[in-house]
Amino acid sequence: MTAQIIDGTAIAKSLRAEIAEEVKRWQSQGRRLPGIAVILVGNDPASEVYVRGKRRDCDEVGFHSNVQHLSANVTQKDLEDRIQTLNEDASVDGILVQTPLPEHIDEDRIIDCIDPSKDVDGFHAYNIGLLALRRPAFRSCTPKGVMLLLDSIGIQPRGLDAAVIGASNHVGRPMGLELLLAGCTVTMAHKFTQDIAAKIRLADIVVSAVGKPGLVPPAWIKPGAIVIDVGITRGGNNKLYGDVQFDAVKEVAAWITPVPGGVGPMTRIALLQNTLQAARQRQTD
Ligand code: NAD
Repeated sequence: MTAQIIDGTAIAKSLRAEIAEEVKRWQSQGRRLPGIAVILVGNDPASEVYVRGKRRDCDEVGFHSNVQHLSANVTQKDLEDRIQTLNEDASVDGILVQTPLPEHIDEDRIIDCIDPSKDVDGFHAYNIGLLALRRPAFRSCTPKGVMLLLDSIGIQPRGLDAAVIGASNHVGRPMGLELLLAGCTVTMAHKFTQDIAAKIRLADIVVSAVGKPGLVPPAWIKPGAIVIDVGITRGGNNKLYGDVQFDAVKEVAAWITPVPGGVGPMTRIALLQNTLQAARQRQTD
């Protein structure tokens, strides 16, 4: 079997066009356009690339975006005060603090400061809690992007066995909750999991979110499975690598995402959708 490649770039393009259409409708109705504020701390080159990409997406669909680029020496208090100001700013629908943050900043406390109704990244404990309680509001962008991908290729997850590799707060855990919400039987694998191969091999849907190039070999994959590679590792040559041994796994799987061009563009779409949702709620409240 040779897997069909899931073209995240093409799927994202068509979803982005739908968002741009909706923004045009808002414009013709004289409504305020959705606005996102991004806080970028320090000079991490990967973070700068991500923020540039998010800004470009906003421009393309017609959202307002405002990036505050702060020094790596910013204090916890200053960062929290800035978030408070954005929480109170009626022109801001979504607030995003680009991670990773410098070591001296307590990231959990920063996310706690964001008004949950502006938490378009879906990282706030309130939004993760709602997802766990089957009442999703703002859904974490990468897991939401993966669910959009599955939907776009016509997969009905209910009743399928799913395995998520990686259990971080921002990706793996909410991914497991999304799949559970969709009716899958979910196995969460992580760095302490024993005999991981035997567990992953049972899954109809495998989502890998670890950040270790080549971690997932074909021997872990059930023939005909759907393999979604969230991992992104930048090599010394600036090339991006996923977690999955793409060339070999595609001979076993039915569907597979490439890196780049799989999940990454869908994460950005989820952010745009969340921002639109926040703006819609703010204007109807
Ligand atoms: P993280 O480092 O916070 O978490 C990694 C997880 O992998 C942990 O839960 C850990 O237990 C688990 N792990 C580590 N080694 C393992 C092993 N050998 N076997 C099984 N599990 C193992 O990382 P993160 O923030 O969750 O990101 C994961 C990857 O996804 C990274 O490569 C990141 O760059 C990428 N990412 C991609 C997107 C996207 O849009 N495509 C978005 C966010 C993150």
